[in-house]
Amino acid sequence: MEGVEIKRPLKLHFIPYLAPGHMIPMCDIATIFASHGQQVTIITTPSNANFLSKSLPSIDPLFLRIHTVDFPYQQVGLPSGVESMSNTPDLASSGKLYAGAMLLQEPIQNFMEKDPPDCIIGDFLYPWVHDLASKLWVPNLAFNGFSLFTVCLMETLRTNPSIYPHMDSDSDSGSFVVRNLPHPITLSGRLPKSSEEFMGSMLEKELKSNGLIVNNFAELDGEEYIKYYVSSTGHKAWHLGPASLIRKTVQEKAERGQESAVSVQECLSWLNSKRHNSVLYISFGSLCRYQDKQLYEIACAIEASGHDFIWVIPLNNGKEDESEEEKQKWLPKGFEERNIGKKGLIIRGWAPQVLILSHPAVGAFMTHCGWNSTVEAVGAGVPMITWPSHGEQFYNEKLITEVRGIGVEVGATEWCLTGFEEREKLVSSDSIEKAVRRLMDSGDEAEKIRSRAQEFGEKARRAIQEGGSSHKNLLALIDDLKRLRDSKPIE
Ligand code: UDP
Repeated sequence: MEGVEIKRPLKLHFIPYLAPGHMIPMCDIATIFASHGQQVTIITTPSNANFLSKSLPSIDPLFLRIHTVDFPYQQVGLPSGVESMSNTPDLASSGKLYAGAMLLQEPIQNFMEKDPPDCIIGDFLYPWVHDLASKLWVPNLAFNGFSLFTVCLMETLRTNPSIYPHMDSDSDSGSFVVRNLPHPITLSGRLPKSSEEFMGSMLEKELKSNGLIVNNFAELDGEEYIKYYVSSTGHKAWHLGPASLIRKTVQEKAERGQESAVSVQECLSWLNSKRHNSVLYISFGSLCRYQDKQLYEIACAIEASGHDFIWVIPLNNGKEDESEEEKQKWLPKGFEERNIGKKGLIIRGWAPQVLILSHPAVGAFMTHCGWNSTVEAVGAGVPMITWPSHGEQFYNEKLITEVRGIGVEVGATEWCLTGFEEREKLVSSDSIEKAVRRLMDSGDEAEKIRSRAQEFGEKARRAIQEGGSSHKNLLALIDDLKRLRDSKPIE
């Protein structure tokens, strides 16, 4: 009887948060479970479901289905169709989106009571998931979208206030060294106090779950951080990534998150015309918005460096119908005539990022260090120019540069609360150009960083193959969850 039970697929319910940086990796992880024969349901709102149904890798619907719950537009005062953080134009509407996401608790609970799973995998931004799981007598796993290194760093700062006091709300606390971790980490600041408290309370709740799912592979976080996490929290972390590597075909890589704003074929044929490692890819994720004067500095730097580029600018920054006068606020005169099509592409809106990063012509990625972008670059073996903006991105930067040596810093020091914020400090075109040249002009330092990045790329690809670390973790987790299910007393 036991043998028959253990073969019965798990019924897993995933609840991703409504932002690309959470939705994309969680749906890729859901797909990984489904491709291993487990019965997965992704619970989300209609417009997210609409895109997901077209863009998830093709899996038998017996194993992967989407259940929708309506988004409460009227209750929170958002226009209909706005169901993702990346579609909110300002801080006020992103607050409304968060409030709406919290109201999904009731319809999700109603659904689960009728159709209880064997395990709930919920985003840590939904603090009610653990209580729901307890009510249904099922385990739950948490997902926060961070690397384990970053979780360790946040936990250390949070739980040692006497060593690392937070001096002042929302301001730089000066440079300091964190010494409790496996490596000494030099920080030029930390999360603003309000943000740290919010994340802290979410992380505390997450520790009540049966484990943490991490979109990373053990070799990049390092055994030393995995041990540190277990010994300092008593909690178990499951490294199952990089999740983006589940996407194999051009179409699967291109249709991820949102519809691409460019023709995938044109983008690929442009990249095909370029030498290996000769193109700089610049993108600051789905939520960062830079002011015109900062974009101007970037434009000057890439032109002065002389390197080819693909530069992604969210639509809020570059409106399609801009006049020449408006454009010149963020683009030097004649920039487009001199560069576009020949030396570079500007993508206004959503870029097929994983497809671009996996092209051999891409030689470096200037990134805001969002965790997904970071682990996607690592999976593709691409070194990074790090330009963190907000949230935990400054901590990810440390893993990339100081700890693993697969990138160089641009020198950003302003810790913002969100990506929308007006920045007080500009990163100068000089600093940007220097960082670009450090990686893109050949030289000893660049070669060493590139070869380390390529080694981690190979390790990432090995991790998800049969016998690799993430693959083994996945099988062990499935077994664990089945054992939990099958040892449950019959009600
Ligand atoms: N992304 C994309 N195209 C874009 C912008 C973002 O495909 O034009 C994807 C990117 O590949 C990543 C996610 O959106 O999977 C962004 O997550 P990340 O953690 O890097 O940053 P966030 O947007 O959460 O700040």
